[in-house]
Amino acid sequence: MPTLFAKIIAGELPATIVFRDARVTAFLDIRPAAPVHILVVPNKTIATVNDIADEDEALIGHMVLVARDLAKQQGIADSGYRLIVNCNAHGGQEVYHLHLHLLGGRPLGPLVQRA
Ligand code: AMP
Repeated sequence: MPTLFAKIIAGELPATIVFRDARVTAFLDIRPAAPVHILVVPNKTIATVNDIADEDEALIGHMVLVARDLAKQQGIADSGYRLIVNCNAHGGQEVYHLHLHLLGGRPLGPLVQRA
């Protein structure tokens, strides 16, 4: 079964795509948690961080560089931003297709609540 994000990448579901190349697609999060909330997604389906293969090392680096460039384009590079990858249940992962959240445009507060 293709993932929700695989369907977006294939053009079978709508999304506001802000960047695409042979390896990744980036689109606006449908429920933004900040003024800038973009998801950078590998075009090939990798379910979680646990499923990243050694040969995906360059792809993962590329995702970070795309996020860096998008942060600059969105005007949040200097004010700052956060990159997040959630993994599995305790990480709060909802969509099992690896993605990097790019969040910014306001002070984001602490990363996690301290217990
Ligand atoms: P995560 O909890 O890390 O798996 O994040 C999944 C993200 O995907 C959430 O921030 C959702 O708002 C976002 N999302 C879910 N469905 C869509 C969609 N159809 N288009 C864009 N973003 C989506």
